Amino acid sequence: MAIFPMTRLRRLRANPGIRKLVRETQVTTQNLVMPIFIRPGKKQKREIKTMPGIFQLSPDLALKECEQLLKSGISSVLLFGIPESKDAMAHSGYAEDGIVQQSLKLIKSELPEMLLICDVCMCDYTDHGHCGVVKEENGQKIIANDPSLEILSHIAGSFARAGADVIAPSDMMDGRVQVIRDELDAAGFKHLPIMSYAVKYASSFYGPFREALENQPKFGDRKSYQMDPANSREAILEAKQDLAEAADILMVKPALPYLDIISKLREQFSVPLAAYQVSGEYSMIKFAAKHGAGNEETMVMESWTAIKRAGADIIISYFARDYAKSL
Ligand SMILES: [Zn+2]
Repeated sequence: MAIFPMTRLRRLRANPGIRKLVRETQVTTQNLVMPIFIRPGKKQKREIKTMPGIFQLSPDLALKECEQLLKSGISSVLLFGIPESKDAMAHSGYAEDGIVQQSLKLIKSELPEMLLICDVCMCDYTDHGHCGVVKEENGQKIIANDPSLEILSHIAGSFARAGADVIAPSDMMDGRVQVIRDELDAAGFKHLPIMSYAVKYASSFYGPFREALENQPKFGDRKSYQMDPANSREAILEAKQDLAEAADILMVKPALPYLDIISKLREQFSVPLAAYQVSGEYSMIKFAAKHGAGNEETMVMESWTAIKRAGADIIISYFARDYAKSL
């Protein structure tokens, strides 16, 4: 390799044309997934205070949102439900007329081309706000792994029957991908892919999401099931487990603080990788821009490029709706 002054790396940065020609990473609308929070009712639109521009929508308005997204080139959404009622065992998660189930039927019948990815977890539907079954052990409340699996598989099966295109378990219980795969296969949904939140950290960047989904745990925290942010080798173990259980797509969550993890998974595995730019990442950029600390659009573009450059194929982002046009 020649060195300066024969080599001048700035030659390929001299103008937009040459920069475009040698650009290594390109984000397209096909890479984007827009999360949608669905609440009961009609014509309901409630803004999430800590996520300006993001709303809880009733199914009719969620449908409208999907129409808009399709027009802007985004054809994938990730659905979360805020049910009418919650209990300890997440019954409303697998009610035939549950909030997500109603929305799936509605959107699928009106917009069959929309890819409907469904978040599968208990915390949306439990009154205690945890992602699994709460049990008492030696006078202490714990989140019991194995009893949670059956409920998670019920939720997944119910979403499949209502028209889900992809099942995305986010609970972080051990063994849930396998149990959900079994349930789907037995119910005639062998073709439905599982996008596993394989590597989900117990992150402080989820704050605004808890307001959005109203699922703040009533006691304790989620550290006994979500991963320790300090761990990287463990991410490989989580990914391997989920692949062994036949996950089709792996996810890393959050995205920007965990680019090293995305990159590591990219090197090790050939399956498609998703990264979730979470609520706190959204709010950080939103509030920084609002207060004049940066340009929102260019910060969003740079963050998406970084996530894709690290190795993600799919970017789940609350900015998808507003910035698809900038790609
Ligand atoms: Zn959960």
